[in-house]
Amino acid sequence: MQVFKFGGASVKDAAGIKNIATVLNETGVTEKLVVISAMGKTTNAMEAIVNAYLNDKILLPEHLKATVDYHTQIASDLFTPGHTIFTSLKALFEELKGFLAWNKSPKYDFVYDQIVSYGELLSTTIVSAYLTDQGVRNTWLDARTILKTDNSYRDGRIDWDITQLAIKESVDPTALSITQGFIASDSNNFTTTLGREGSDYTGGIFAYCLNACSLTIWKDVPGVLNGDPRVFNNTELLHQIPYEEAIELAFYGASVIHPKTLQPLQRKEIPLYVKSFLNPKNPGTMVSAVASLVPEVPCYIVKKSQILISLSSLDFSFMVEDNIAEIFQLLALYKLKVDLIQNSAISFSLCVDNKFNGLEKLVNQLKGKFKVTVTPNVHLYTIRHFNQNALDNFQEGKEVLLKQATQNTVQLVTQN
Ligand code: ADP
Ligand code: ASP
Ligand code: MG
Repeated sequence: MQVFKFGGASVKDAAGIKNIATVLNETGVTEKLVVISAMGKTTNAMEAIVNAYLNDKILLPEHLKATVDYHTQIASDLFTPGHTIFTSLKALFEELKGFLAWNKSPKYDFVYDQIVSYGELLSTTIVSAYLTDQGVRNTWLDARTILKTDNSYRDGRIDWDITQLAIKESVDPTALSITQGFIASDSNNFTTTLGREGSDYTGGIFAYCLNACSLTIWKDVPGVLNGDPRVFNNTELLHQIPYEEAIELAFYGASVIHPKTLQPLQRKEIPLYVKSFLNPKNPGTMVSAVASLVPEVPCYIVKKSQILISLSSLDFSFMVEDNIAEIFQLLALYKLKVDLIQNSAISFSLCVDNKFNGLEKLVNQLKGKFKVTVTPNVHLYTIRHFNQNALDNFQEGKEVLLKQATQNTVQLVTQN
């Protein structure tokens, strides 16, 4: 069995959905599970609905309308008037509006998951119906009845035992199934999500539990390159990547693969292919148990909008185990993801991601104990397999606030 994952870029319009049918017809329409994200930038649009609902209700109708119009337009481009798809889409929007009406919870993360998940429900409903119309038999599966997580909304952690059982029971390995990326549910059947860009991870979970022969994620790039082509010039395609290397690249922020995707695949040595949905016959990138990166070139990764926090003791005492332990407890409590740490006898610097908005609370607590300097909006660059030449060229014209090098990897925090 093969698992495919199509992301937002591949289903951003009617042409993209038609292309999915083409890719499936070319690669086989049985023994396949297909995971699909929300269309285009729908998840961002859903986030705008959440924010309007919780903070600025006057804007809610216009945000809802934009999402309804976008999906209705795509459906109109694909189906004839009066097709049952229009009733199905209407039912999903009524369900969403129902939630907005009855919900009493003010909790952002909970509300977020209940609303944002409709992006994936809408996209898969459209794709499944389109494939059916094209004569491609498929079964639409509700991922929320299959993938089970704890109740960490926006960051659900998979319950592997229950999920494994549910996948066995619900997926016919001989047929074609269509399901949603990114979404799951908790033990009370409330919707959870796996974190932004989490559909790749959904692919990894299904591939693991189905003992699939491979996972292919279809992207708008030829494969994994040695840098994001939107940021770096003259990027090269990486043909083969060992699992460990791909995990490192994803962890440091190579956003082409969600960092959690690879561990389940590595455990069962299931290869991951990253391919272009525009050129499905091209080989793309293979991530597998190969020995080394091919070609072995420096790889460049950037994480933008990071925060540099510098701490030093108020009384010139040393930064030792107990105060460092306390700093880490607070980081875990306020869910700040640490990307870089550097310490000396009396100072401690961290580059963090403020995805869960815990920064202010963290800084307020740290201020009681340390002298705290916060530099917002820094960029964190990582170069794997760097050489002096690559590093010198890279640093030119950049204001480097912090630098850390190990044998293989150099990280730089810059203001630009
Ligand atoms: P989707 O959500 O459609 O699955 P993403 O937009 O999340 O796809 O991922 C594809 C994008 O990842 C590319 O358009 C590219 O800009 C970006 N990207 C970042 N790092 C890399 C890299 N090392 N190689 C290729 N693409 C990269
Ligand atoms: N739709 C979700 C997002 O945009 C998940 C995904 O696309 O992977 O974050
Ligand atoms: Mg994406």
